[in-house]
Amino acid sequence: MDLRKYIRDIPDFPQKGILFRDLTPLMGDKDAFNYTVKEIADHFRTFHVDKVAAIEARGFIFGAPIAKELGAGFVPIRKPGKLPYEVVRKEFQLEYGMSILELHKDAFKKGERVLMIDDLLATGGTALAASELVESLGAEIVGWGFVVILKNLKGEEKIGKYHIFSLVNFD
Ligand code: IMP
Repeated sequence: MDLRKYIRDIPDFPQKGILFRDLTPLMGDKDAFNYTVKEIADHFRTFHVDKVAAIEARGFIFGAPIAKELGAGFVPIRKPGKLPYEVVRKEFQLEYGMSILELHKDAFKKGERVLMIDDLLATGGTALAASELVESLGAEIVGWGFVVILKNLKGEEKIGKYHIFSLVNFD
């Protein structure tokens, strides 16, 4: 299935000069959404995934149904101040400015096998920070799944030590 026709380009969002890839048409189409979830889950079906960890907010939309498909648990990685229990946190560089991600410090048992999910890989700063948080708790990352990778931003180099899977690549 060609998912590109369900991805809309929005120039100058959220800031001037940024071309935003909008996945809401893909999410809203029953065939495209279900295909996306199933394809990513199928790719990782033999990886023995205990938990899927996904990044707020768009990562949750794909991560939770992928966890269900795999019979895995789900762990949210969130923006600061959202998680109610004790957290580990990581500050990192975005394309413009800094950001912070948090994870409950009891989210994983040592050695648990974790599939990481986000909607889109750009520079890789978000994915690297999330990876470091998960590994700081002793869990093992079995791979990263994205719907979209923006190849020219070279995010794959930042998380090159992990197995990476995506359904759509833009140059
Ligand atoms: P990175 O840290 O530069 O790789 O940015 C990736 C993060 O920003 C992901 O959590 C994405 O959800 C979000 N993001 C960056 N650019 C886009 C875009 O064009 N469309 C949708 N999400 C984006």
